[in-house]
Amino acid sequence: MKATVAVIRCENYEIENVRSAVTRGIGLLGGISAFAQAHEKILLKPNLLAGDRPDKLVTPYPTVFQAVAEIFKAAGADMYYGDSSGMGSLERVARQAGIKEVADSLGIRPADFRTIVPVSFPGALLAKQLRLAAGALGADGIISIAKMKTHGFTRITGAVKNQFGCLPGLQKAEFHVKMPDVYDFSRVLVDINNYLKPRLRLFIMDGIAAMEGNGPRGGEPSAMKVLLFSIDPVALDAVFCRLIDLDPEFVPTMKFGEESGLGVYKPDEIQIIGDDIEPLINKNFRVVRRPPERFASARSFPTFLKNRISPRPVINYERCVNCGNCVQMCPVAPKAVGRPAGNKDQKPVYDYKRCIRCYCCQEICPEKAIAIKIPLLGRLIH
Ligand code: SF4
Ligand code: SF4
Repeated sequence: MKATVAVIRCENYEIENVRSAVTRGIGLLGGISAFAQAHEKILLKPNLLAGDRPDKLVTPYPTVFQAVAEIFKAAGADMYYGDSSGMGSLERVARQAGIKEVADSLGIRPADFRTIVPVSFPGALLAKQLRLAAGALGADGIISIAKMKTHGFTRITGAVKNQFGCLPGLQKAEFHVKMPDVYDFSRVLVDINNYLKPRLRLFIMDGIAAMEGNGPRGGEPSAMKVLLFSIDPVALDAVFCRLIDLDPEFVPTMKFGEESGLGVYKPDEIQIIGDDIEPLINKNFRVVRRPPERFASARSFPTFLKNRISPRPVINYERCVNCGNCVQMCPVAPKAVGRPAGNKDQKPVYDYKRCIRCYCCQEICPEKAIAIKIPLLGRLIH
């Protein structure tokens, strides 16, 4: 049977437009009664990477969260929301992203994303033991609200990757250290998705104003004018790829997702319903159109060569405000980015010999000061 993805055009973030688009998208997938029953516990899981204002497009727009929350609330669901942000507590980040105000107005509580619950997953592709946020477990349903964005490490950050936020804060950094290879990391993303399978799952992507270029935090806006809906996160991400003319084979979660039974990604396995996708395709969307590199983490690769060919984070010192977020986020010990001699007055510098190329620093920089660049030798090889 084919996976179904609803593609709904939506011109802007006006609440009436978004409400109508969300109602239509869920309606095409069977209607709210297919997803919610009265008194069921439903977790809304927006991508709350960082506490940036809604117009920065780092997080799903508040009206998208609102429209989704309203429709489930009206069905009598017991709602809460949560995510494990890269920077700051759930409530602080949600407030800064405009999500908390909406949640408070609808009586939707924050979930417990601090308490860690260890779980075993013998059927995992790689992560046989997971330590998940308590708030991500025990729900009757999870509604993932992803943002349509690029990602330096995994090419895109979409529906499958959004569930990475179900690992509490430091866990995420630990995984990057344990699994610096993007292909291993992608297997773990698939494992998390396969473990978190409550009675209902719905994946929604906010692509009304997407982020292209140096995502997931430092990119530029791209008006894609679309919302996506599916119960298959792999298929939804595959449609995202199609919308930006990116070969889904360049996104490692696709193959692993299909292999593990999480979902499907090939065009003939996906039924697209709703609006015509062709006029929504943006072939000029700025995304890296090649497979993610393995060089950085390949242990067999000599370090000196690795550093001359692997893409690496580079700081633009004219933009850098010396906030220290990149230093704080770097998961390796000793840090691969830090102030010279620990002097906080000096802007951070990299030690590429230690860097595992997880790009957490690039992901979290609030000033768009870090870009991923390929050294000259690497460019020649690529
Ligand atoms: S996170 Fe960005 S702005 Fe902050 S110190 Fe690092 S490079 Fe500079
Ligand atoms: S310097 Fe940046 S890319 Fe390198 S390990 Fe640290 S956070 Fe990851």
